Amino acid sequence: MNAEIIAVGSELLTPFRTDTNSLYLTDQLNQLGVEVIFKSVVGDDLKRLVAAAQHALFRSEIIIFSGGLGPTEDDLTREAVAEALGIPLRRDPEVLTAIERRFASRGWKMSANNAKQADILEGATVLPNANGTAPGQWLSGKVEGRERIIILLPGPPHELKALFEAECRERLRAKVPPAHIATRTLKVAMLGESHVDARIAPIYKRYSSVQTTILAGAGEIEVHFKSRGETLDAAQAAVDEVADAIEDELGDAVYSRDGQSLEQIVGYWLQMRGATLAVAESCSGGLLAERITSVSGSSRYFVGGAVVYSNPLKTELAGVPADMIERHGAVSREVAAALAEGIRYRCEATLGVGITGVAGPTGGTATKPVGLVYHALASDSGTEVIERNFPGDRKRIRRFASAMALDMVRKKLM
Ligand code: ATP
Ligand code: MG
Repeated sequence: MNAEIIAVGSELLTPFRTDTNSLYLTDQLNQLGVEVIFKSVVGDDLKRLVAAAQHALFRSEIIIFSGGLGPTEDDLTREAVAEALGIPLRRDPEVLTAIERRFASRGWKMSANNAKQADILEGATVLPNANGTAPGQWLSGKVEGRERIIILLPGPPHELKALFEAECRERLRAKVPPAHIATRTLKVAMLGESHVDARIAPIYKRYSSVQTTILAGAGEIEVHFKSRGETLDAAQAAVDEVADAIEDELGDAVYSRDGQSLEQIVGYWLQMRGATLAVAESCSGGLLAERITSVSGSSRYFVGGAVVYSNPLKTELAGVPADMIERHGAVSREVAAALAEGIRYRCEATLGVGITGVAGPTGGTATKPVGLVYHALASDSGTEVIERNFPGDRKRIRRFASAMALDMVRKKLM
């Protein structure tokens, strides 16, 4: 079966709010074997909502509306769906009482406009909303001869999720013929998107039943696989076959096959090896430490470190000789190595990392352009330094630098 999602709300058409509900709903529908074939965002405008609803009713089997169920003038989803279907809304006395009770239990007085949240599409099942006033609605039946399921859910994400889980998932499962969608994600570190695609396209193109998508971030690439099958095992087998072939091709650049982040993997390896880590960061300004400590349990392997932005602090906290900085400059192979070695020594860690570079957009020179970063990893077997020229803005360059450093630690411990 297929589905369409309509996210309602003028705020979703501004630069300040993103429609995240449809991502959640797509994931849930996929898990039921339902493919999402259209989604749209529509402002709080009756005519446009009716048009969107009519299109959806014509082309999609399941139509889920998110938002526009509130009490205000601009909450128009109920009215729009009623008009598109040509059926009336009826004020449901039980729902109205429940809304009144909800207000009373908080000691609030219900204003008159709240009553419209009790307006139910004729023939619809009311889906009680444990976290808000507006209930959801479920309607199924023939629309111009075609079998349709129409679901109205409130916009606030925590209400929508709770309501979907409690009231929609099993109802849908009962209606949807068993079809299964299997997915898998491989995560790849420090390879360029076009490079990865050039290497893996010949492989995934051989498997037309598996949809392969490449998503690129700074220093990390995700390769997503999706397949439909009559059983979950069949779908999973198809996905695994492509994923395994691609993993073989990319080798140890693949750091995760089950969704774990680079910092989680690094934490895993540090624990496996009983090793500890300390960092001295210049241009990344603490981002590396932030990423490492975002993992729960990181105190078991992360000692700490220092953000050494100024030259005197590089000397004071990480023991980088002042004359070395003078001779080679703060952004240099030598200083990166000294940062890693110094912080490792001072923090008594198994591994020390040093990062120094030009994050830009100002401060670049002909010999040390914006994007130039040195990453060093010190251990008892010596110090390794990697020089990279990263593209992008300040945020991206810092993200790249932290990913590179994490990947060096990972490769060292693997
Ligand atoms: P309410 O009773 O709060 O008015 P509603 O069903 O009318 O409920 P909206 O007014 O559309 O919902 O949205 C309420 C809140 O939920 C807003 O903060 C809005 O930004 C957020 N929201 C709405 N739709 C989405 C969406 N698709 N993705 C993420 N957040 C959303
Ligand atoms: Mg609203």
